[in-house]
Formats: sequence, structure tokens, C-alpha cells
Amino acid sequence: GLSAEAYSRRHEISVIGDNVPPPFTSFEATGFPSEILREVQNAGFSSPTPIQAQSWPVALQSRDIVAIAKTGSGKTLGYLLPGFIHLKRSRNDPQMGPTVLVLSPTRELATQIQDEAVKFGKSSRISCVCLYGGAPKGPQLRDIDRGADVVVATPGRLNDILEMKRISLHQVSYLVLDEADRMLDMGFEPQIRKIVNEVPARRQTLMYTATWPKEVRKIAADLLVNPVQVNIGNVD
Ligand code: ADP
Ligand code: MG
Repeated sequence: GLSAEAYSRRHEISVIGDNVPPPFTSFEATGFPSEILREVQNAGFSSPTPIQAQSWPVALQSRDIVAIAKTGSGKTLGYLLPGFIHLKRSRNDPQMGPTVLVLSPTRELATQIQDEAVKFGKSSRISCVCLYGGAPKGPQLRDIDRGADVVVATPGRLNDILEMKRISLHQVSYLVLDEADRMLDMGFEPQIRKIVNEVPARRQTLMYTATWPKEVRKIAADLLVNPVQVNIGNVD
């Protein structure tokens, strides 16, 4: 295979940070447990996408990440699979609240993330619930009460449920802001800040965004600690 440097050049990966580990240019290089590698193989994937190749080694070091990559580049597994490894290292009682929290702008996107989490997490016995608006709260509250390792949520609905005191985020130690630029465009910044205030400061935070305007830079500066920045292609 290619050297890490040649791989990064070919796939237009650039990184900003101290001692950033080289990309994993193959699934074997990840050291992921066999049940996860089996799911990736079942899905028919032949190699990591560039954002996965560079996100995984950084995320596995428990470092904060801000990743800037286009839609369709495989960002979901870029944060989910290291989240599953994080869960193996620090599993809490899911009845007491999630360990992994993913914020997503819309019901449709949250549902897609949930589907991916169920598909790739089932063999690792990872439980996941999805919370979004435009649907009754009852079934979602019952799902929460049953317990989940991973919660995927839109900021509006999660904030409503927090205000009802029907979920605790005090065990969250792996927080993902997916499509951060879109969440801000939709006006979710106040809800995001309220939610993050309920998550312990001692956590790993990952932010994924398609664009890198100053509003996104500002919230990244506020919520992430010394993040490694990963760019795929040109950053506008
Ligand atoms: P993004 O969040 O960057 O828009 P997604 O995570 O939704 O992208 O992934 C886009 C599509 O690529 C999905 O159908 C996903 O299952 C698929 N995919 C993810 N990782 C790989 C891979 N390593 N190889 C091939 N396809 C992949
Ligand atoms: Mg996505």
C-alpha cells in the first residue's frame, strides 16, 4: 500500500495539531475488534474513506477533533466507530443515561445516524435511541427509560426532554456535533449550548462540518479543547 504521506497527499488530507498520528490506510490497520471489522466487511466496504482514515487514529487517542469534509464522505462511521471503542473502554449503566451523545440537525439525518449505529453496533451489543421533533414524545421517553449507550438527537427535542428532566447527560463522555454548520444555520446554537452545559466538562468532543465559517470556528473554540483539525479537500 501507499505510505501514509502519499495516501494523505493523494486524498487531500491536511491536519493541524501536535503529533497528529498518520491515517489508517486500511481497515486492518485500525485494530478495531473483530465484530466491528466483520460488520464493515458485511457492508461491502473495501477501505476507509479519507475522513475515516484520518479521524480514527486521532479519535482513538481520545483527542478532540474538528473535521471538515463534504457530504457523502463517510463522516458518520468516522465518529461512530471510535465512539463504540470508547464505549468498550468506559461502559456505564445505560439506565443512568447515555455515554455517547450525537447531535444532528434534522429528524431525517438523525434517523440515518441511528440506522448506521444500530447496524454497526448490534454485534457489540450497543444500544441506541433516537430523539427528534415532529413525533410524539411518549415512545421516545419510553426508549430512554429502557436505557441506551448512544443517544442520537436533534437539539430541539433533546432540549425539551432535558427540561422535562426525563434524561440525564451526566454520564456522557463522548460528544459529537454532526453537521455543526447546518445546526447553527437552523438557529440551534442556544439549545446546543444548554445541552452541552449538562454534559461533564471532562469529555471527548468531536465536531463534523461541511464548511468552516466564523460562527462554526467560534463554537468550536468554546466547546472543544485543543482539537486536532482534519480537512479533506479544499476548505472554504
Ligand atoms: P457524510 O456524513 O459524510 O455525508 P455518510 O456517513 O452518510 O457521509 O456516508 C455516506 C455513504 O457512504 C453511506 O451510505 C455510508 O454507508 C457509506 N460509507 C461509509 N463508509 C464507507 C466506506 N469506508 N466505504 C464505502 N462506503 C462507505
Ligand atoms: Mg453526515
